[in-house]
Amino acid sequence: MPSALPLRSAEIIAVGSELLGTVRLDTNSLYLTEQLACLGIEIRTKHIVGDHRETLARVFENARDRADLIVFTGGLGPTDDDLTREVVAGVLGRTLDIDEAIVERIRARFARRGMAMPDVNRRQAQVPRGATVLENPNGTAPGLLLEDEQRLVVLLPGPPRELIPMFAALCERVLAARAGAERLYTASLFVTGRSESDVEQRVQPIYSTWRDAEPRIETTILAVMGQIELHLSTRGADPASARARIDAARDELARVLGDDVYSTDGRSMPEIVGERLRVRGYAIAAAESCTGGLLLSRMTDVPGSSDYVYGGVVAYENEAKVAWLDVPEALIAQHGAVSEPVAVAMAEGIRAKTGAQVAVAITGIAGPGGGTVEKPVGTVAYAVLVPDQPAYVRTHVFLGGRDMVKFQSTQAVLDRVRRLLR
Ligand code: ATP
Repeated sequence: MPSALPLRSAEIIAVGSELLGTVRLDTNSLYLTEQLACLGIEIRTKHIVGDHRETLARVFENARDRADLIVFTGGLGPTDDDLTREVVAGVLGRTLDIDEAIVERIRARFARRGMAMPDVNRRQAQVPRGATVLENPNGTAPGLLLEDEQRLVVLLPGPPRELIPMFAALCERVLAARAGAERLYTASLFVTGRSESDVEQRVQPIYSTWRDAEPRIETTILAVMGQIELHLSTRGADPASARARIDAARDELARVLGDDVYSTDGRSMPEIVGERLRVRGYAIAAAESCTGGLLLSRMTDVPGSSDYVYGGVVAYENEAKVAWLDVPEALIAQHGAVSEPVAVAMAEGIRAKTGAQVAVAITGIAGPGGGTVEKPVGTVAYAVLVPDQPAYVRTHVFLGGRDMVKFQSTQAVLDRVRRLLR
């Protein structure tokens, strides 16, 4: 029977020795945290526990002292080291019974692939007495839901493609009704062209007034590669007023940051730029050197980008810049391959070859070698050509390792396209 107390706090226990190594990351808890936050259920602690009976039992016992909801992921497989079912049943003092209906479903799943079910898989049909079985259309191990005094205990399979749909259904059917009336509402702003401290200085006088307001609006500022992110959240029992409150807060911050805000709805830079190209009916072509195709890779991550991505070349060697983009050899000899005149010539070259309305070029030193006193590692020259405007060309010195220099170069170019197509 559902208890009267709403679920407010949760703990996640990710099970599996592989998660303690260096190869597999516990990503399930990130998904679970996000889903639970939406329901206003706060994660107080999360754990990663190897396939070790005693440790798992101890962690579970401690979690029972604190949390209204305990979510296990993993350890529901058919082998001896898959301990979650047994440990949970042991701690709760429930017997494990084989559910023949589950055995039949697993058997049928194997049969569909022309295989006989190995006997060990019967373990996956073990159900602690009183548990509700959660269907798993994407795998063999069903999930389990147990009422434990005032709290709920959920056992989910480890593979994300099995866990995600199962947990989404559980949220909708069970957890939403058992959570309190309050839900979490969020909004975000993505900002380029400003440092974290500059953004903080601009927005702090505004968000500091929200802290004391009731209901509060929480603000987090994050410096992420190539951009600053502002994340806002508030809680509320009435969806319309909470949504209106968080949207108004977002819009207030967007006003003071102006055109440096490129996204207020979670869309990425390539999506925003793609939309601006699509609206104008423009195609884009790119000549990339140090970014090795990353700019077009990011743009083509967006579904439907064939509407506006023409294509481009990766001209890494000087010879390639000359042969494929008609960059004059003398220009490279005079200014160096990483220079503004060469970036402009590369952009002009790709525009001439493709006829695209928007042409961009990037040439730089991604490092770790290749830097000089005059042009240190991270030096990147880039050019952007759009119709009816003079060529835009700049040189930046980006900080960080090779990945960061490459990413920030593409972000700067995309942001310039965005601004020029305002
Ligand atoms: P199976 O029946 O497939 O064995 P299981 O419930 O026993 O499922 P595990 O054996 O613990 O799950 O994990 C299976 C795979 O699922 C792991 O190899 C890993 O790829 C993935 N996985 C497990 N736990 C997590 C996690 N917390 N985050 C992300 N992936 C995970």
